[in-house]
Amino acid sequence: MDKNLMYFKKIIENSGYKFTRQKQYVLKTLINADIHLNAKEIYEIVKEDSVSLTTVYRTLKNFKELGIIKEINANDTNYYEMKIFSGKPLNLHLTCNQCNSIIDIDSRSLNLEYLLLNNKLEKENNLQIYDSNIMFIGLCSECLEKLKWQEQ
Ligand SMILES: [Zn+2]
Ligand SMILES: [Zn+2]
Repeated sequence: MDKNLMYFKKIIENSGYKFTRQKQYVLKTLINADIHLNAKEIYEIVKEDSVSLTTVYRTLKNFKELGIIKEINANDTNYYEMKIFSGKPLNLHLTCNQCNSIIDIDSRSLNLEYLLLNNKLEKENNLQIYDSNIMFIGLCSECLEKLKWQEQ
């Protein structure tokens, strides 16, 4: 088992769950994915290893509760991506109105602004923020280029 998987094994087992073979397959699929996957798409990949769709749903719920993965809602579907090791401090996404793709917005430079915004929201509303899920709606750069090209 590679180092990454060992790390997740620890998290899962320390929370009182078993690190089953099925969980390993789902986890590997998410680690290797470079796009956002929904439950059915994950199932299409792991079904060869005889993991059922029900198990995929159950595993995703478990991973989400443990903070291993992140759920993103776009186009009325839930998509999943790694939260731990994702290298993304913020979770900013854009759904493209034209092609329905979900884009990760690299937000490294916004780190400080984001923390300040959190502090401000917490103070003004008397609450505590653990995480965020920000979805912008618009056009991805490819669709924007196409549109510009058509308008010429
Ligand atoms: Zn697009
Ligand atoms: Zn993402």
